[in-house]
Amino acid sequence: MDKTPNLKASTLTAQALGWTDPSTRAVVPPLVLSALYERASDGSYPGGHTYTRDQNPTYVQAEALLAKLEKGQSALLFSSGMAAATTVFETLELGDHVVAPEEMYWTIRAWLQNLALRGRISLDFFPNGDLNALHASMRPEKTKIVWVETPANPTCAITDISAVAEIAHSVSALVVADGTVATPILCQPLELGADLVVHSATKQLNGHSDVLAGALVTRQEGEFWERIKKDRAYRGAVLGPFEAWLLLRGMRTLVLRVSRSSKNAQKIAEELERQPGVAHVMYPGLRSHPDHQVAARQMHGGFGMIVSLRLTKGEAAAKHVAANLRLFRNATSLGGVESLVEHRAPVEGAGTKVPVDLLRLSIGIEDVDDLISDLKQALADVS
Ligand code: PLP
Repeated sequence: MDKTPNLKASTLTAQALGWTDPSTRAVVPPLVLSALYERASDGSYPGGHTYTRDQNPTYVQAEALLAKLEKGQSALLFSSGMAAATTVFETLELGDHVVAPEEMYWTIRAWLQNLALRGRISLDFFPNGDLNALHASMRPEKTKIVWVETPANPTCAITDISAVAEIAHSVSALVVADGTVATPILCQPLELGADLVVHSATKQLNGHSDVLAGALVTRQEGEFWERIKKDRAYRGAVLGPFEAWLLLRGMRTLVLRVSRSSKNAQKIAEELERQPGVAHVMYPGLRSHPDHQVAARQMHGGFGMIVSLRLTKGEAAAKHVAANLRLFRNATSLGGVESLVEHRAPVEGAGTKVPVDLLRLSIGIEDVDDLISDLKQALADVS
């Protein structure tokens, strides 16, 4: 079925692998809502499908496209990014050791802390990018998963995936990379040595802020992947057919959207560095970013859609700017076609490492000059 051995991401996504529906020759896949599939008289399933909690034709194509983009062997869609992430931890045995970065998507961090509190796992955090600290936290035989998120949401911290893979693999731990912010267009963690990639497909993969979805992509199928597959089916953490259909439709324009939003983000980050009310801009595409070189080595074609900034006049200034932007919508999430702003620390609550004066911007595909004018007018009062 795969007509796409060496095609580039733009072609793969625009044509959604070039698949045609075999029964109707439809170029756009039909939306299959049936939850169940008929057996033949011998009890077999000639259509290859049994029940929608196990498999649905609507998600097969999106999974195949994502696996191809990530250069993985196989992909699975989930009902959300959190469903995908938590399924990974369901594969662990009681007391297994997990190491995760200090700066990461806060709900996954909170979930891990919750598992540790209940005695399900043992857990250590390492400062993002601090490979010595990571090395010191490895426990041979015990450490099973090293989690990375690069660029990290919302601080844009960068982690060297190849270096992490070397350390983790030395104790036979798996590296799981949250690639939500980079997308497979800018970075392919499996090629850098990660074993599994997790996505909140709610974000730029879908790109239109109208689907909640998640995905896992594996470098290699095997026992671990079989456990994940079974767990998804047992717990029913599957995506609905309509959401899968919308996700595939969104992914057809992924390359254009990623390219445009990254270009916009780079220009906005550079412009923000020149604004008097801004104390610090966090963006991996800036030379001032402490890990710009690592990001430049492992990302291609841009540095992502998140730009975070800290305000010289503190928390009140951050709140003021968030409230006074006119084009940037004051809403959570990221990776949509529309630009968003969020005063992040209160969202994450007690224990967050995110400074109270930090605003997270998710840059969309609007005209960049309009976005810059909007930022300047909102910053004028706090300069
Ligand atoms: N990973 C990252 C980096 C995220 O930003 C998010 C959500 O914001 C998630 C995972 C969780 O995804 P979802 O909201 O689709 O459950």
